[in-house]
Amino acid sequence: MSDTQNRHSTDVVIIGAGPVGLFAVFECGMLKMRTHVVDALDMLGGQCTALYPEKPIYDIPAHPSIDGADLIDRLAEQAAPFNPTYHLGQQVTTLTREGEGWLVGTDKGTVIEAKAVIIAAGVGAFGPNKPPLDGLEQYEGSGVFYMVKRRADFAGKRVVIAGGGDSAVDWANSLSEVAEKVMVVHRRPKFRAAPESVSRMDALIASGKIELVVPYQLSGLEGVGGKLTGVRVADLDDHEKVLDADVLLPFFGLAMNLGPIADWGLEMEKGHIAVDQRTLATSAPGIHAIGDIANYPGKLKLILCGFAEAAMAAHAIHPRVHPDVALHFEYSTSKGKPGA
Ligand code: FAD
Repeated sequence: MSDTQNRHSTDVVIIGAGPVGLFAVFECGMLKMRTHVVDALDMLGGQCTALYPEKPIYDIPAHPSIDGADLIDRLAEQAAPFNPTYHLGQQVTTLTREGEGWLVGTDKGTVIEAKAVIIAAGVGAFGPNKPPLDGLEQYEGSGVFYMVKRRADFAGKRVVIAGGGDSAVDWANSLSEVAEKVMVVHRRPKFRAAPESVSRMDALIASGKIELVVPYQLSGLEGVGGKLTGVRVADLDDHEKVLDADVLLPFFGLAMNLGPIADWGLEMEKGHIAVDQRTLATSAPGIHAIGDIANYPGKLKLILCGFAEAAMAAHAIHPRVHPDVALHFEYSTSKGKPGA
């Protein structure tokens, strides 16, 4: 792609296509502001898609229960009438002042000129905490996975899940419905997960659907020709045993890395971007931060709070994008069909 093809101009660049970034497309669209959205992942949805696509979320208003992936499909559908341009699979690395606006640059050479920027970058570039096992890389993507995209991929498999938090317990419960065998490896018998999930797992252990391997930790991998055949585990006295397995799912949490965001000269607070709670404005003019990345007194890292922040940020940005148009607050019911 030539330099000119890779250079764009828009009203607002949204960094991050998680649930909050996607809803910001809608809110900007309702105020007639065009958007480009950049995400390092090659898919929409941020944490919902990458970490818990098939888990039900219970606290989205008017959806008593909605799976992570379904929520993202709905948000993308709601944003679609405003024709956002998505630049996926590229990380925003530079954010520099250009006149009254900003120039957003990615690691793939895309440059977008914008009047304002909304940072909806969640926990930043995130990646899994990996267990220190020899030869781990050769099984990654074939026998070792750090997230579950589709439960069906594990149907009929012998699955070892390692970890003691929500992901380990929830996926053990869920995969026990489709896998041939589920084994849960943890250093101690106590799990740091929601009590009702732990109770459910206890019941599945009692009925033989899940095998508990405690107190053990991972010590090695066994395989033939790049295909995983077993997971070695060791107890606290270093006594080893091998669990015959096709798949290892190590769930040791996420390493959160703000990456380049920390170098953009914005005021930060404990690894988050400090914002004015009323406008979600950062310390730089025309740059607003919303969702998990934003911090203000009383902040709750919930999707529904991020949705409200998207609306507030869009209204605060409007005078910068349309300085000659007075902004009259209007309900969507009076404004009419989005995009029309
Ligand atoms: P994210 O979803 O984190 O998306 C941010 C996006 O920004 C990512 O896709 C990332 O790749 C991208 N990005 C970051 N840096 C850059 C960069 N420099 N360039 C380009 N792209 C970048 N919340 C609830 O409200 N209810 C729940 O029930 C709930 N359950 C949860 C269960 C689990 C297991 C987890 C992990 C979280 C849960 N959450 C829940 C939290 C919820 O997922 C987050 O609050 C939400 O995803 C935040 O949305 P976001 O759009 O701010 O950020």
